[in-house]
Amino acid sequence: MEITRFAPSPTGNLHLGGARTALFSYLFAKANNGKFLLRFEDTDQERSKEEYVKSILNSLDWMKIKPDSDPVYQSHKTLQHKELAFELYEKGFAYACDCSEIALSKMREEQIIKKQKPMYDGFNRDKGIDFSEGMVLRFKFPLDGESRFKDLILGDISVSNKEFDDFIILRSDGSPTYNFSAAVDDMDMGITTVIRGDDHITNTLKQINVLDALSAKIPNYAHLPMVLGESGKRLSKRDGAEDILDYKKNGYLNDALINYLVRLGWSYGEEEIFSLSELVKIFNLADVNSSPSRYSRDLLDWYNNKYLNFLTSDELMLKVKENSGVDFNKIDKGNLAISLLAKGANSLSQINEESTYFFEEPLIKLGSFNKDPSKKALLLDFVSQLKKIDFDKKTIEEFIKNFLKSNNLKFPELGKPLRVILTGKENAPSISELLFILGKETSLKRIEYSLND
Ligand code: GLU
Repeated sequence: MEITRFAPSPTGNLHLGGARTALFSYLFAKANNGKFLLRFEDTDQERSKEEYVKSILNSLDWMKIKPDSDPVYQSHKTLQHKELAFELYEKGFAYACDCSEIALSKMREEQIIKKQKPMYDGFNRDKGIDFSEGMVLRFKFPLDGESRFKDLILGDISVSNKEFDDFIILRSDGSPTYNFSAAVDDMDMGITTVIRGDDHITNTLKQINVLDALSAKIPNYAHLPMVLGESGKRLSKRDGAEDILDYKKNGYLNDALINYLVRLGWSYGEEEIFSLSELVKIFNLADVNSSPSRYSRDLLDWYNNKYLNFLTSDELMLKVKENSGVDFNKIDKGNLAISLLAKGANSLSQINEESTYFFEEPLIKLGSFNKDPSKKALLLDFVSQLKKIDFDKKTIEEFIKNFLKSNNLKFPELGKPLRVILTGKENAPSISELLFILGKETSLKRIEYSLND
């Protein structure tokens, strides 16, 4: 059975790249009837914070990514990691090292001068030093040959072992290091496929060697190419990707974000719309692109607009109320009003921002934006005729059409000022729908107010 995991360090909120990694791990497990596990790599005591654990849990929950077991906290496993580090030391896969900071930085400086890659030179590797308090344990990285694995997305990856040094697995204060702990935990949790960002490729090559030394089964690895920002450079704050929950706050729907995220690097023919229940059936790592993807706010907005319009007006009302407190139930024809706004909106917040004219009078005088007396005469004529018609949708549409025709007008000549008068905005939805939803009394009141000097 496939077992995958997401292993965030709770040193910050869940950002877009992390959310995509979590989603792909989750989908891969589910598409293979497997399990998805969560592990907090919280060993950095200074930077790890409980508030980030909570916010990552909330983000995953909002994205409907449910781990199959309680989260594992790496910090609770330090003792076991330490014991295993000593086991490797006893077996000769690791050695004690007492090189001082001063000696190490001198080594580094000399290597830089010689234009060599700065790394530990193995000074104590074969000295057989007995471990004592304050020393570190270093992993005996194989000296010859290559470290390699077949990445499920990127294909064969191999690097000469000369590129690696004997990295520390246990620090002088007795704490295990990331590459050691992550390898042990993947072994312990029975992880079959590790899915993470491609910034971890070097770590993978190190961890494979640790797992080998522990006689553990080596999992499969899949490294996700980066998500670049709009500019093609690293994803940054400007791309709005710092905290997944900000998308929720800003009125994005979780289903839209999930759909958007999965398309950041994964594709399935020409299809664009995927529900989570569909994804857990069809997701496959082989369909993940091996080159970086690029964040696009416009595409995210496009998805959100689509998903807003998949909702019923009752669902929309509930979500807008949750998001911004605005209650469309309070107005007549609230269902129609909210659906009309959703057509042109990219977010729940935008529906709220655009909705003001359904809740309060815009109080616009025609003279404040158009001083042409013929426009006033035209609108006076329009309103006097409007008074006489039935206010059903069809009649309103017909009436407007005929009015334009008999006055020999193009639509904007009437539509533009009317839109401002009815809504206070230049970009508002269809005039006939607006008139219908606002109703006869309100529509006439607004037009008459605007024509009264
Ligand atoms: N804790 C690591 C990080 O947040 C992830 C390590 C992993 O997935 O193995 O980058």
